[in-house]
Amino acid sequence: MFKKTPGTKDILPDEVSSWQVIEETTRNIFSLYNYKEIRPPIIEEAALFNRSLGESAEIVQKQMFLIKKDKDVYALRPEGTASIVRAYLENNLDKTAGLTKVYYIGPMFRVERPQKGRLRQFHHLGCEVIGSQEPYLDVEVISLADNLLKAYTIEGCEIKINSLGCAKDKKELTEILRKNLKPKLSKLCDDCNTRFKHNVLRILDCKNEGCIEVVKELDIQQDHLCPECKGHFDKVKEGLDSLNIDYKISPYLVRGLDYYTRTVFEIIHNDLGAQNALGAGGRYDNLVGDLGGPSLGAIGFAFGMERLLLVASREYRVESKKLVYIITLGNQAKKEGLKLLNTLRRQGITSDTDYEDKSLKGALRKANDLSSRLVLIIGEDELKKSVVMLKDMVSGEQKEIKQDDIIAELKNKL
Ligand code: AMP
Repeated sequence: MFKKTPGTKDILPDEVSSWQVIEETTRNIFSLYNYKEIRPPIIEEAALFNRSLGESAEIVQKQMFLIKKDKDVYALRPEGTASIVRAYLENNLDKTAGLTKVYYIGPMFRVERPQKGRLRQFHHLGCEVIGSQEPYLDVEVISLADNLLKAYTIEGCEIKINSLGCAKDKKELTEILRKNLKPKLSKLCDDCNTRFKHNVLRILDCKNEGCIEVVKELDIQQDHLCPECKGHFDKVKEGLDSLNIDYKISPYLVRGLDYYTRTVFEIIHNDLGAQNALGAGGRYDNLVGDLGGPSLGAIGFAFGMERLLLVASREYRVESKKLVYIITLGNQAKKEGLKLLNTLRRQGITSDTDYEDKSLKGALRKANDLSSRLVLIIGEDELKKSVVMLKDMVSGEQKEIKQDDIIAELKNKL
């Protein structure tokens, strides 16, 4: 028998209602903030991610699912931002839409070593706002993430924020780190020795104990920020304070992708264990320009849906529609049942029947298992009298109803 590929998950019918509640809540909250949904494709030219995330990013180096077709190389998207900026530019939204606020919900793909909270196909829900550098937009986006968590009734999260500064500030921070870390390379893990060459900022958020010690001694603060970036970050903090949003400044939060500038943030939850990030995001003020568009500020974030569900304190349930179950006895009744089922569904009444030739007892048990509210039984007697037997599964009460009165009676009872 075939098995699912490692790091993927079947979301079975019993689990799907939790996903639907998260999705519906997400749509409601995003729409409160005036964000519209966008649905870019799952497959993109691989070069889009190399260019946007940076050749040295771990995702690009090790984690992309690549598909080669003749001379072309495609990737299953590992994240949403690059696709959305590509879609924004390709569809000329920079010329027609002004400030653009979009959200998305969908699968992402990364070649990972699967473990709790870390899959190869997982789902992001997130947003991107393109067209402004205004610091209060950062406040809106962070408060939106915070409000989503409140709406999912997820508690016990911590919001960490930092500012990387503009491209020049990031370069300066990189140089400071290179200078200070060079004499300590032997104390860093193998990965960080590679990062030292290609992506030195990433050493700041390495989880290896030895590296954490070395990094702590560096005593990194926000000294690398130019006056404009410092002013921008001050405004972000001031805005968050005015909304009473709890956050912690974390000078070691860097995020691994080239496109991030200025504000970056991460939301963690300690119940998650090693993979403790629930979601993350930040500004990417140079990406639109780097992908061939105008110079426009932008910011976004994404939550991992599997991780949201791991920490959700309750199981989300969609109120199921009240089901009417039709049981027929004999071939003629079966034909009548088929027509009646069609009529009920056209009338907007959720209904089903037995396709497994069960006995009356078996079919009633099935109706019970499906939590049917009402059952309609059609046998030879009922056919002769042009009636159906209506059984109320809650009270157990049973009565004959004329065929012409069925719809009115059901609507009255449901
Ligand atoms: P990132 O784009 O890596 O910042 O991811 C944003 C969020 O997506 C993370 O905080 C996680 O909640 C989730 N996420 C990232 N990678 C995975 C993965 N491999 N499996 C499950 N969730 C993930």
